[in-house]
Formats: sequence, C-alpha cells, structure tokens
Amino acid sequence: MESRVVEVMAKIPCGSNTECYMDLKEYLELYAQLHELIDSINIEVEVERGKYPLMEGVKNVEEVAGKTAEVLKAVGVGIDEAEIIDSVRNISGRSELGHLASYVFRRIAFRGLRNKMGSPTWISGRCPVCGLTPITGIYRKVPHEFYTQTKLELYCLCGFSLEHTPFNCPSCGNSDRSRFEVLLLNKVKIQRCMSCGHMIAIIDEDPFIFKDLAHVIAAYSIVRVMSAEERQGQ
Ligand SMILES: [Zn+2]
Ligand SMILES: [Zn+2]
Repeated sequence: MESRVVEVMAKIPCGSNTECYMDLKEYLELYAQLHELIDSINIEVEVERGKYPLMEGVKNVEEVAGKTAEVLKAVGVGIDEAEIIDSVRNISGRSELGHLASYVFRRIAFRGLRNKMGSPTWISGRCPVCGLTPITGIYRKVPHEFYTQTKLELYCLCGFSLEHTPFNCPSCGNSDRSRFEVLLLNKVKIQRCMSCGHMIAIIDEDPFIFKDLAHVIAAYSIVRVMSAEERQGQ
C-alpha cells in the first residue's frame, strides 16, 4: 500500500496534531501489513447451515485460528490458537493483543464466507457474519440528476459492510435525531446515541482512503474521545 494513503488517513482525525498523527500512523501501518497478509490467505471456511451470526457455525475454527496465528507471527506477535479462539468469543475485557487476534480471525473467516452468504443484512444492528455492532461509517456521495445524495455505509471489523440509515443506532435502535450528539474530531464525525452511548465514527469517502482501514480510524477516534472525557472527569 502506498504510504501516501496511510498519511492521508492519519490526518483525517488528527489534522496537524503531531502526537496523534504519529501514533495513528503506526496503527495504520500495522493494520495495512496485516491486511496484506490476510489477503494472501485462501482457506475454505466450512459452515453449518442456519446459524446466525454465520461465524457461530464455522466448523473448522481451529484451522482459522491456525492461520490467524501465522499472520500474527509474521508481524512479530506470538499468540496460540486457544488464546485466539478465546479472544474471539470473549468480546468484553480484551487486551490489545486480544483485539488484534479477534480482528485477524474475523477477517479470515469473512473472506472464507463472503461467497457463501447470499445478501444478509444487519440483525438487530449486529453483523450477520460475526455478530459485532459496527462503529465505523463512510459517507458516500451519490449523484442524481439534479442533486447529490449522501449515503451512509457501516463497516464491521470483519469486513462486512452495508448501507444504513443515518441517526439510527445499531446498538439500541434509537432513531430520534434529537437523541444523538455529533462530535467532531478534525474531519471525523462521531454520532453518539444518547440513549445507549454507542458511538459511530464516520469519515467521508475519498479516492485517497482505503476503506478496509477505516475501522482503525474509527476505533482510534472513539478511544480518543473517551479518554479526553475521562480526563475531564465526565
Ligand atoms: Zn462482522
Ligand atoms: Zn443507542
């Protein structure tokens, strides 16, 4: 991947804040490297029919975890298959290492499943493939004859994406516009649901961004907002 892409993407939430920029650039470079490694893997993911999210029905979990361990090893991260499976199942209270493992596992499983899944939709706001609630959005401009419409597409950590109505919380279903607040982190728009606190970080589509890395910006932006609020004692 061109380093220009990483530079442009790191500026989206960080602007001219050097500390933020250097920090996020490092994450983006790591995830870009992981993405390339994951993209080179082709394993057949076998799935039991009728299970949702689809990942619940994966039969060759150990094999997917094995590939996950290989990918992580290539970037210098040592973690065994049992720990990987544990971090995928146990979403809350994960370490940074667990988060990486869960990410790589989900991406590999999604790659193996995407041609078998038809056209599923969010299930009560959760990803039909892996069951997570999305936190990443991209605004896309769709030209019509006389005007341009903005469409929101939500992206799951696993790679699944689908259009979604803006100001419609995937976590609790709140769709009252006045029950959302919008926080701006340079060019990132964070829509926070005031009913449940769920946040979605949205960036604008741009030829210089790589959509598969948008989740890195979203997670980073949300963590920055949360730690700023903690410091202020909110
Ligand atoms: Zn997913
Ligand atoms: Zn909500």
